[in-house]
This record gives sequence, C-alpha cells and structure tokens, in this order.
Amino acid sequence: MLPFVPAGRTDGTPSGLTSSATSASVLVFWSYSGLSRRWETALVRLRIGHTLLTHGFLMERAHPPYCDDCLVPLTVRHLIVKCPSLGDLRRRHLSEYRKGDGSYSLSQVLGEEACSVGGNTLSYVEEAGLLQKL
Ligand SMILES: [Zn+2]
Repeated sequence: MLPFVPAGRTDGTPSGLTSSATSASVLVFWSYSGLSRRWETALVRLRIGHTLLTHGFLMERAHPPYCDDCLVPLTVRHLIVKCPSLGDLRRRHLSEYRKGDGSYSLSQVLGEEACSVGGNTLSYVEEAGLLQKL
C-alpha cells in the first residue's frame, strides 16, 4: 500500500513540520524504554484512568464495579492512592510520593520516575495483584 501524501506535499510530512522534526518525534515516541509490554500497556491505561478492571463492565454491559472493601466506585485513583485495604502495601512501596497531608500524589505515582524500570509503582501494582487486571 502506498503511503498517504497530503495534497501539495511530496514527502508526506504534515504541513508545519519538517521531515527532520517528524523523524525526531517518531524516534522519541518509539524509543526503547526497557519496560515490559504488559507494564507499558497497563501504565497507559492507568494514566488515562481507563482499565479493564474499572471499565471492563462497558464491554460486558454490566454495572460499574465497586471496591469490595470500601463499597465506592472502583477507579484508578481509588486503587492506586485511596483504597485503605491497600494502605500497608502503598506505604511500603509509594511512601516517597506522599504529600504533607498524608495523601498520595497520583501524578507522581504514575509519573516517569515511579513507573520506570525498577520503579516503585510497578512493585506496588504487582504485589497488589493488579497487573493482570489492568
Ligand atoms: Zn477500596
């Protein structure tokens, strides 16, 4: 199949971008991060707040899930930084992302540093048994 070339362009580069800028952005996007495919997928889902565990009901035409322990709607925020039943595990793995008021920063927990290879968030998610469910 031939690549799509916008009218008026001969190199396929979207208007406003030079071909070297496009190449650089593609290389950054596709650079090897060292993360497993499963964790990369889970991480994207966690960051957009849309996981199989929290939104799988949409495919099954079922009711939205609730946390079995807290009886509140099951969300990524609840799983990662709120649910008290995961509090011990959270303190063990994510204590450095705790704010002054004792709450956890979701943006830091799901940030680049915490989610890198050997980062704390993957350890937390794995030990909580969540990785297969995201
Ligand atoms: Zn809960």
